[in-house]
Amino acid sequence: MIHTVGYAAKQSIAGLHRHEFDRDEAKANEVEIEVLYCGVCHSDIHQVKNEWHNTVYPCTPGHEVVGRVTKTGAAVTRHKVGDVVGVGCMIDSCRGCEACRAGEENYCEGPNSFLATYNGPAVPGKMAIGGKNTYGRDNTFGGYSTSMVVAEDFVLKIPSGLKPEVAAPILCAGVTTYSPMKRWGVQRGSKVGIVGFGGLGDMAVKLAKALGAEVVIFTTTKEKLQEAARLNVTGVLESDEGSIHSYKGSFDFMLSTVPKKHDLNPFLPLLKRNAPMVVVGALEPLEPVNNMVVAAHRLSVCGSMIGGIRETQEVLDFCASHKIGPDIQMIGMEEINDAYRRVENDEVRFRYVIDMASLKSKQ
Ligand SMILES: [Zn+2]
Ligand SMILES: [Zn+2]
Repeated sequence: MIHTVGYAAKQSIAGLHRHEFDRDEAKANEVEIEVLYCGVCHSDIHQVKNEWHNTVYPCTPGHEVVGRVTKTGAAVTRHKVGDVVGVGCMIDSCRGCEACRAGEENYCEGPNSFLATYNGPAVPGKMAIGGKNTYGRDNTFGGYSTSMVVAEDFVLKIPSGLKPEVAAPILCAGVTTYSPMKRWGVQRGSKVGIVGFGGLGDMAVKLAKALGAEVVIFTTTKEKLQEAARLNVTGVLESDEGSIHSYKGSFDFMLSTVPKKHDLNPFLPLLKRNAPMVVVGALEPLEPVNNMVVAAHRLSVCGSMIGGIRETQEVLDFCASHKIGPDIQMIGMEEINDAYRRVENDEVRFRYVIDMASLKSKQ
């Protein structure tokens, strides 16, 4: 057993507190990882507060994990002790369904879908057809902890050109925004509109620019316009109807990164004929869209969720070769409840990254 110290929520209203538990040692195909850094994703907050009504407590979040391999199982070939590696939103999948065979484990169609890095299978046993949990685990503990044990196929290599702490948020925020841009063909000369300028929006802007697109970001927060200027992209306030109208029919691709229910209708007229509005931020019912506008220009309103393991490695390598990464602010584990409050109040554009040394020093 590997004694592990983490932070967990015991119930939806309690915040996160120190939580000690044991992890099983690595099986033949698994690696043990000493966690160095873990990004703070808005999903962590949704999950801790049971806002998706599927939280298993105690809940130790964290799916933007970077660490160092400390031990490898006998059959491991892809990683070795000392490697700096990453773990994103998944630690296993059924491996047999059409999506898994296509390398899109994030859309696993097995009875329990993928095994999430925390909070267990994406489809828990009690919600699965046949009532089974093929992973044998109801709960999994994420990266707000000192160690992880993960099947090697779900462990990413962190390129040497990326600082480990900067790489962490790429494992969720990076691939979540990169995957739909690749899927819908964002390329040199594309005109891309991004709605929402938090952690996802920051990555989306940088990735779209690196792909060669012209980028406009829409935000409700006046202070974030300066940040847009600093990144050398146009920022538009959502309340500025005149500016919004001036983009009518101009975008090849739009991405909504707003992490909660919001109205897409003001943005749909800004899309070119045949163009998609892809929603990655909010995983809940949205305001109804006006299909007169959608149909009149053969638009698409789509969703996309994280990315497969192969694509996650691709975006890590892409960020390293283009020298881009999220803006981060490092915090100690004990600052997490404060950080959540600030993220929820929409105060931060950067990504918080927890320095796990803060946890180890108090062991
Ligand atoms: Zn996430
Ligand atoms: Zn599958």
